[in-house]
Amino acid sequence: MSSLDPALVHALNARLVNYAEIGSTPADHALVQISTIAAVLDRKYDGDATIGELLKAGDLGVGTLNGLDGELIIVDGEAWQAPAKGPVRRVGDEEQTPFAVVTRFITDEIVEIDAPLNHAALIELMEQHAPPESGCDAVRIDGSFPTLHLRTVDAQTKPYPPFEQIVANQTEWHYENLRGTLVGFRFPHAADSVEMAGHHLHFISDDRSKAGHVLECSAGPATLRVESVGAMRLELPPGVELPGPDDRPTEQHLREIEGG
Ligand SMILES: [Zn+2]
Repeated sequence: MSSLDPALVHALNARLVNYAEIGSTPADHALVQISTIAAVLDRKYDGDATIGELLKAGDLGVGTLNGLDGELIIVDGEAWQAPAKGPVRRVGDEEQTPFAVVTRFITDEIVEIDAPLNHAALIELMEQHAPPESGCDAVRIDGSFPTLHLRTVDAQTKPYPPFEQIVANQTEWHYENLRGTLVGFRFPHAADSVEMAGHHLHFISDDRSKAGHVLECSAGPATLRVESVGAMRLELPPGVELPGPDDRPTEQHLREIEGG
């Protein structure tokens, strides 16, 4: 498949860009995506994009590092890694990512969360302010997190094992009463296979000591900020094709292995 799915183009105003265009994309209410979730499921764990290039395109985002080396959290223009082994650390500009999505975050709407909401209520609140039938939204929640269930994955060596096998051995943490920031995106069903339809959320604590991919959390008191995204710019690393109808992952399958 060599062109974008018309449904995706329509839903997300999606366009393919080459590597040189990543940092120069007009990014107001746009997001830049490196590779596809279908490629990750196809063991494409090496990318061409550097973190430095990615940070030119956005200041808030999620992803991973080459070799599937932990979870990537981009917040306030800084890139952080939650590795499976060792402390959370700042990521260098020269490091590369095989899968990431960023936006230059603009707050379109602010919602105060006065009292703690459980995970389901939090998702419901985000969907109220970003209806699933609309395009894509970026979200950011700052405040108190009474409970957090996070995960990360360990760096892989070649030959790369299947993603399902890596996630089966993922590292998980349960935390209580942390202050921090949750960042992420909600993608519509039309984005399935390029992205994970539904919410994809990463967390990092205020003291930058705890971070990961959010499997479940509660939040509040906290402030939710929502950005409506009107355009997607997609860069495909060498060897990554657009997903075809045969390798389109189902949302159910992704939810089972990605949670959230
Ligand atoms: Zn994630």
